[in-house]
Amino acid sequence: MNEEFHYKNGELYCEDVPVQQIAAKAGTPVYIYSQNHFLKQHESIVQAFKNVEPLVCYSVKSNSNLGILRAMALAGSGFDAVSKGEIYRALRAGAEPNKIVFAGVGKTPDEIDYALEQGILMFNVESEAELDTISKVAAKRKTEAPIALRINPDVDPKTHKYISTGKRENKFGIDLSRAEACAKRIKELKNLRLRGLHIHIGSQITQDDRHAEAIDKVTPFIKKLKEQDFPLEFLNVGGGYGISYHPGEGLPINDFATKMVPKIKALGLKMLCEPGRFISGNGGILVTQVIYDKPSGDKNFLIVDAAMNDLLRPSIYQAYHLTWPVKHKGLADGAALGDNSLLEKEEAIKDGTTYDVVGPICESGDYFALGRKLPTMNDGELLAVFSCGAYGMAMASNYNTRGRPAEVIVDGDNYWVARERETIEDQIRGERLTPRELNQAKA
Ligand SMILES: *Cc1c(COP(=O)(O)O)cnc(C)c1O
Repeated sequence: MNEEFHYKNGELYCEDVPVQQIAAKAGTPVYIYSQNHFLKQHESIVQAFKNVEPLVCYSVKSNSNLGILRAMALAGSGFDAVSKGEIYRALRAGAEPNKIVFAGVGKTPDEIDYALEQGILMFNVESEAELDTISKVAAKRKTEAPIALRINPDVDPKTHKYISTGKRENKFGIDLSRAEACAKRIKELKNLRLRGLHIHIGSQITQDDRHAEAIDKVTPFIKKLKEQDFPLEFLNVGGGYGISYHPGEGLPINDFATKMVPKIKALGLKMLCEPGRFISGNGGILVTQVIYDKPSGDKNFLIVDAAMNDLLRPSIYQAYHLTWPVKHKGLADGAALGDNSLLEKEEAIKDGTTYDVVGPICESGDYFALGRKLPTMNDGELLAVFSCGAYGMAMASNYNTRGRPAEVIVDGDNYWVARERETIEDQIRGERLTPRELNQAKA
């Protein structure tokens, strides 16, 4: 149940603000975020894991808007970054450096040096070769780099294959069979300090025992490390906690926690986790305007002003996003995303039309919903695409030389444009027509 986006008098609200009012001010397409959704989700994780000294490191890549990061930092959240740019963003938003973890299979020496300089909590190391590089960079700085080993526990997260990361065939983490050799190497290298172990098995996981199974898989190795006197403090259990795109799909965080906490407690480690989508996914919508209604053959295309460059998930993952008019009289007050009454209504629409909701981009994969029954819509009306807070704007591009949308944050009855719509000039900045122009710029 997500009451941050709800209908009142047949009109969609984000918290206490009518979505139509925001769209009138900020234009469309626009991402609208409920700040309180992010904070509420964060707090629910802190509570669920309170017996294992949790540090929640919000996954910056899922939604990296500075205003959002700011709100998270003020709530005491840490951050999971996967590039120098994400570390920079977190710090700009007021993150404490010692609450930042840095993951990724291809960290460059420059990125490692920057992270050391900033004093981050840990590097999540993904290969033996990376151990050597981090140690070398740390030696140059005459310091010790704090690290966690990312172990690939070979657990099937039972999710979409593109977002599965913890199976043997995935590129992420260190194979359990090589983990002991890595531990040996850490002992040899003078500039590394092993502070934890890291596992992250995939995204949008909706079975509550997957993370617990991953912990079981790495437990014997953790015991061995402890026998060898490694100063382990943290078990980083990663992210991946699934949300409801369809009503009832996601699980309360407690369902995961109940199975995980006793195992973490038994290991005597502090719990660190890296949720992205669980915090951000249902905290945002994409609002788009209908440009044309185009009947064609036996189909009805609803052509809207947002496109795959704004929201890529349907195109690359065939992801389902609930889509519904911002204004619709037939809807019960209080109907909200995650509330079955919305979809029951969808089935019950009598004046409806079955649409393919598509964008203006020159690709057949440019769509938001296919064969979806919606109330019949007219040109100029607004449509909300739900569950867009995670991997929405974060994956937006300039394909077709389209400026990326504006982002608005709502907090109670207050809202502000947290990021302006990109202009055409923004997009061509740094481009040059001829080499002569380059020389002129240098002179
Ligand atoms: C992407 C990612 C996350 C966040 O995943 P969600 O499914 O959004 O929770 C956490 N940790 C790592 C290492 C990741 O790559």
